[in-house]
Amino acid sequence: MTSVKELEAAGVRILRLVYADLNGIQRGKDVALAKSDHAIEHGKPFVEAVMTIDLRHNIVCGEQDGFRDFVAMPDLSTARISPLEPDVALVMCSLIELSSGDPSPLDARAAVQRLSQRLQSHGLYPVIAAELEFYLLEHSPTGIGGLRPCLQGDSGVYTVGTTADPGGLIRRMFDACDAFGLGPTAFSHEYGHAQFEINLVHGDALETTDRTFLFKSLVKEIAAIEGLVATFIGLPADNDECSGLHLHLSLNDENGRNLFDDPAQADGLAIVARQFAAGIIDHARAITGVLNPTVNAYKRIALGGLSPKFANWGYDNRLAMLRFCHERGPATRFEIRSGDGSANPYLATAATLAAGLDGIERGLELPSPVTGNPYEGPDELLGAPLPSSLPDALDALEADVTLVGLLGVGLVSTFVRNKRYEVARWEAELMRLTAWEIDEYAEKL
Ligand code: GLU
Ligand code: MG
Repeated sequence: MTSVKELEAAGVRILRLVYADLNGIQRGKDVALAKSDHAIEHGKPFVEAVMTIDLRHNIVCGEQDGFRDFVAMPDLSTARISPLEPDVALVMCSLIELSSGDPSPLDARAAVQRLSQRLQSHGLYPVIAAELEFYLLEHSPTGIGGLRPCLQGDSGVYTVGTTADPGGLIRRMFDACDAFGLGPTAFSHEYGHAQFEINLVHGDALETTDRTFLFKSLVKEIAAIEGLVATFIGLPADNDECSGLHLHLSLNDENGRNLFDDPAQADGLAIVARQFAAGIIDHARAITGVLNPTVNAYKRIALGGLSPKFANWGYDNRLAMLRFCHERGPATRFEIRSGDGSANPYLATAATLAAGLDGIERGLELPSPVTGNPYEGPDELLGAPLPSSLPDALDALEADVTLVGLLGVGLVSTFVRNKRYEVARWEAELMRLTAWEIDEYAEKL
């Protein structure tokens, strides 16, 4: 939908102007459609420091600029009617810096746009699909932090229908995604207890990242309506499976032909596919912090069987960081398996496009692929170890000046500042006395 008239005719009364903060959380403002002319033409101002609010309501920085505004400028072509509130249309916004009128350096969506355009200037049109796994948790006094998986039975793995989804909730999520235009293609129970995966159709990098962003909020909202918590974090339950964000990537030409596909090569992969993948491997340590932006994410990396620990690649190998899927022709693509769903979808897309772009612009070559179980050696084929903690990952991100330059210095420095603040809060938490210490020592020592 593209015009106010069309929206009115569809029964819309509220325009919900939304954008992602640096955590990937949906922020915005509801505007009466009947009074929306000014907002559509000039945007809605927000305090720029919204991009520095942490998950506990602390403002990490912003004073240095006197808590100035930026403007959220709606793009009406992105309007979609909410499946939960039929008189509300969500509209994606671009964030504009007031002083210059340019895209805000804090807008990760603008970074996706910019990097897509740069690839397009080489005749390369990035195509993405995000596979997100998530858990449904219920409130329980026995759960860690008061939450535990809402299904405890062991028979759910890769099941469908009522065994997998007793209350039909995932089916309702799937239908809501469909009504919302998010392009859901498949869903099933995943390996963990009450762990699910809903797949969305692939598409243009920006358009798909918008859908991924809206998907996460919608799934969380529908779960909350049922009194449950849907979570995309890497390790939400002890002794259970982890949740990943698997990004599928390829490049098309302007006519939509897959440029990764080259039947003349022995493995069917074009040089540009190898260069793009080589850029991801080369910048793997730096993009880890973007793909895994919580302290929790590194527990998935350490504990998860199918989450990569080294910067490597393989043909259809789920133990590699980058897996070239077996399909060729229009479906030729690779999957980056490093991230978890706590990643901001825009930062994740931007970081992978930046890394791949650099691989192409520098003509990087892929190292040898891993085969079989790479953890059984030989060690020299494993690749560089990925950062094993959030502080290490933030150091690796800051140290990669090429990637920082491509993503934008302001975007990366603000993200890193927010995250270091979170790490400091986590480190303070680690110093608190635990029940384990009293139980272990107090009576005996
Ligand atoms: N749950 C695994 C992860 O944490 C991935 C399982 C799969 O390949 O679907 O990445
Ligand atoms: Mg999966």
